[in-house]
Amino acid sequence: MVLTSIGSSEVLQILEDVASEISRNKDYLTELDSLGGDGDHGVNLERGFLKVHGQLPQLQNSRDIGSILTSVGTTLLSNVGGATGSLYGAALLKAGKVARGKTEIAAKDLPEIMSASTTAILELGGAKPGDKTMMDVLLPAAEAISKAAKENDDLNFILDRGAKAARGGLENTKTMVAKKGRASYLGERTLGHYDVGAASLCLILETCARTISRLSNST
Ligand code: ADP
Ligand code: MG
Repeated sequence: MVLTSIGSSEVLQILEDVASEISRNKDYLTELDSLGGDGDHGVNLERGFLKVHGQLPQLQNSRDIGSILTSVGTTLLSNVGGATGSLYGAALLKAGKVARGKTEIAAKDLPEIMSASTTAILELGGAKPGDKTMMDVLLPAAEAISKAAKENDDLNFILDRGAKAARGGLENTKTMVAKKGRASYLGERTLGHYDVGAASLCLILETCARTISRLSNST
């Protein structure tokens, strides 16, 4: 069935899937971070998402998607730590504001949610395109989602476009020299490697697309 909107239970399903995907990829992310950072990205993100996972039963009482996203943002902010926790936390808090009071998210809401997350990360980190950060995944994904949402209201179609753009953005980070975060201390030595924040965000966006595809096919 074509899914043109999702409610809180689908959002919780996405969060559950993201939490398990982060756990599954903890070692991969840690390995990437040990090339350019301090090797804690996988462990820190897993710790945050395990907390989110633990909160899911309690979040089932909430139908307001804005308050779910705000809770997740707060949890990541206080449990992931470092730049990663602040950036993901800020993005989810801003996304939560946009979704406040909404019990459903439809195609038309996605560009606004993506753009709020982008603004949050830009305001906090000031990274430009090409600085080899999660922005290099977020910007192309947000653009692809906006474009796709104008063409079609099928969430599966839109998120698939977003996930493909995210993967393309991640591939491009291999050709970039890190200008922000700990990896920037390594300069040219970061060439040829993925940025770890870009890699985790790509996993998250791909998981969102996969969950929506599964839910579309099962209804
Ligand atoms: P920490 O180890 O404190 O979590 P890092 O400095 O290793 O943080 O950065 C982790 C990831 O966060 C990077 O791979 C990058 O994608 C992203 N990042 C870091 N600094 C910025 C920034 N100023 N703007 C946007 N993203 C950033
Ligand atoms: Mg780190």
